Amino acid sequence: PVSSESDASSQLLNAPSSGVDSWWSETSINAEKKEIKAWCTDQNGEWVLGKIVSNTGEDVILSLPKGKVVKVHRDTLLRANPDILNGVDDLMQLSYLNEPSVLYNLQYRYSQNFIYTKSGPVLIAINPYKKVNLYGSEYIKAYRKRSTNNPHVYALTDTAMREMIRDEISQSIIISGESGSGKTETAKVAMQYLVALGGGSGIEYEILQSNPILEAFGNAKTSRNDNSSRFGKLIEIHFSATGRISGARIQTFLLEKSRVVQCSDGERSYHVFYQLCAGAPFSLREKLNLKNVDEYEYLKQSKCFQISGVNDGESFQEVMKALDAVHISREDQEKVFAMLSTVLWMGNISFTSIDNEDHVEATIDEGVHTVARLMGCNIEVLKLALSTRKMEVRKEQIVKKLTLSQAIDTRDALAKSIYVSLFEWLVEQINKSLTVGKKRTGRYISILDIYGFEYFQKNTFEQFCINYANERLQQHFNRHLFKLEQEEYIQDGIAWEKMDFDDNQDCLNLFEKKPLGLLSLLDEESTFPNATDLSFASKLKKHLCSNPCFKGERERNFIVSHYAGEVMYDTFGFLEKNRDVLSMDSIHLLSSCSSELPQAFAAKLISQSENSISSLAGDSQKMSATSKFKDQLFQLIQRLESTTPHFIRCIKPNKLQLPDIYEQAFILQQLKCCGVLEVGRISRSGYPTRMHHQKFAKRYGFLLLESIASQDPLTVSVAILRQFNIHPEMYHVGYTKLFFRMGQIGALEDTRNRTL
Ligand code: ADP
Ligand code: MG
Repeated sequence: PVSSESDASSQLLNAPSSGVDSWWSETSINAEKKEIKAWCTDQNGEWVLGKIVSNTGEDVILSLPKGKVVKVHRDTLLRANPDILNGVDDLMQLSYLNEPSVLYNLQYRYSQNFIYTKSGPVLIAINPYKKVNLYGSEYIKAYRKRSTNNPHVYALTDTAMREMIRDEISQSIIISGESGSGKTETAKVAMQYLVALGGGSGIEYEILQSNPILEAFGNAKTSRNDNSSRFGKLIEIHFSATGRISGARIQTFLLEKSRVVQCSDGERSYHVFYQLCAGAPFSLREKLNLKNVDEYEYLKQSKCFQISGVNDGESFQEVMKALDAVHISREDQEKVFAMLSTVLWMGNISFTSIDNEDHVEATIDEGVHTVARLMGCNIEVLKLALSTRKMEVRKEQIVKKLTLSQAIDTRDALAKSIYVSLFEWLVEQINKSLTVGKKRTGRYISILDIYGFEYFQKNTFEQFCINYANERLQQHFNRHLFKLEQEEYIQDGIAWEKMDFDDNQDCLNLFEKKPLGLLSLLDEESTFPNATDLSFASKLKKHLCSNPCFKGERERNFIVSHYAGEVMYDTFGFLEKNRDVLSMDSIHLLSSCSSELPQAFAAKLISQSENSISSLAGDSQKMSATSKFKDQLFQLIQRLESTTPHFIRCIKPNKLQLPDIYEQAFILQQLKCCGVLEVGRISRSGYPTRMHHQKFAKRYGFLLLESIASQDPLTVSVAILRQFNIHPEMYHVGYTKLFFRMGQIGALEDTRNRTL
């Protein structure tokens, strides 16, 4: 690829990508001589590069590869960049930033294993799905010495490191992208670089070893990624004044709890279950009464036990080693595994009908016995907790028997709650290990690996939360880019007028407004015992139709216009998932246990419900799932706002998880979703084209019809602007550069090309 020109003025002609008019006159005159290329779409909707052979009025004859010649309407064409720009390492260097040009440039690089490309301040990373020779100590050294300019996670991390030291401000590396795009791997690459630079104290080994633990307990095979993280993660790596790593802190978000009890065909539950069953030594198997994976109902239902190329037994050894590294004692490890076995056996608990009214009771069999033994609770207490519910009616306690489906829900809620509590407990232990006795200077680099915008055929509560989070992060992204723009103007002495740009505030209002926003209405409806998904949906339609980002749909559905596109949500299960209540009976069951972990889980659940009673209307025992998530998200954004952000957008090249396949439409959709194309749009709403006075004078000075006395670049520049009648509102003169609104340079360029 062409080496990058660091001069900001290389952004020249960043502008006209929308209309064809600005370059049309040029093609008509010079088509043959200058070999103008343009993009047209083929019958499959893919972009094809062609050469303009001739054009007469509206129609253009285009010669395509393989000797094909087509006649198309000129409005369907988009201008292609000159060959010399093939494979530039920053998209902002492209003269034409239209979609096919961006796609082509990324593909050009990707086919040569240059998986990283910049788009202004953003780093784009395309998952290679194969080993690429881009990592390791030689590369780290090269980026440290700045002896290479190729875009890379190392380069971005290095910049973060330098800015942290220079400005004494914490930094953040924000990684987003859809499932399987490479976020988690990218986060590890960034960690690798930080550890290489700041290592030496020994703590870095512990930090790295937190990865296999979190992946075992929080990752699973899905249809999109064999090792999909089912939670969001923020890891803060703290540095001492001398630049050494002094500790770390991990925060996790929204673990997908439903997976513990339910997953689709071909997917798996969390890795650690399979690892434990495959890798536990004999004595542990005996103690925990472990079976083969195919004997557990929770694991059996999706008919998938193996991942090709993965040895679960070996992974189990690595997880144990990692647990050792973060100082979780062998004794505690056994308690953790006992909880895993508890969850698995819980899924095997079945129910027997006891009367003619559909009421059931837990069957006393191996399942109940094992669960009771591992948790250290009384069998009768367990049976009651799973088959009845205590309720208060007119100040009197009554005991209600459960139907089969209620009993199964109670059992599954308990299993999910135990697993989530276990996950949170582990994160706490890791954090203790990473901070114990280590002084914090308050300077850190945080790495955020969070699920990107999602939309499927059917979108439910999980997508609703994830997309809301992305909407917030997108605003953070937009505002940051705008700030960068603003700084450049101010530095060059240009008064910053408030530029209007499409913020996504409308959509955020739709979610957050009180009392009439999606989240408030969801919480309100969740407190009504008789509410249904349908009543929730009609409530939304009644109150939100005035928001431009909301559209009611038939039955349970509604549509939100996100920054990345419209998504239709199905309210099925929203209330249930949002209530997220574990019955008091289940909490009491946990606290009655003699084992340490169930007790600890109960204590935490109780303190959480006590802390949040006031925050939710009504008599719910607990804060709703979305309020909890929103709280976390606000804290996250607040924390990010105190840092200088660096953005990485990961792209998945194809749905097959295979190397060397570049699916244009699929990639384009992601570029739109992650706001990379937005970067261009945002800067275009201001003065996207900038050029130093000297360069401008040199480039266009010869076009002056009247000679002027002064050779001063600024005077020459102003004379050129006058001659071409460029409206004063269309440009600004800065101390060093000229700033132009979009499309203004086109006429100058055309004349220049014609004259040359
Ligand atoms: P995400 O976290 O975005 O869901 P992952 O980081 O788990 O995605 O990546 C999915 C898979 O893609 C990985 O398991 C790995 O096989 C492959 N992959 C991702 N990034 C790279 C990379 N830089 N080099 C090689 N393979 C990669
Ligand atoms: Mg991941």
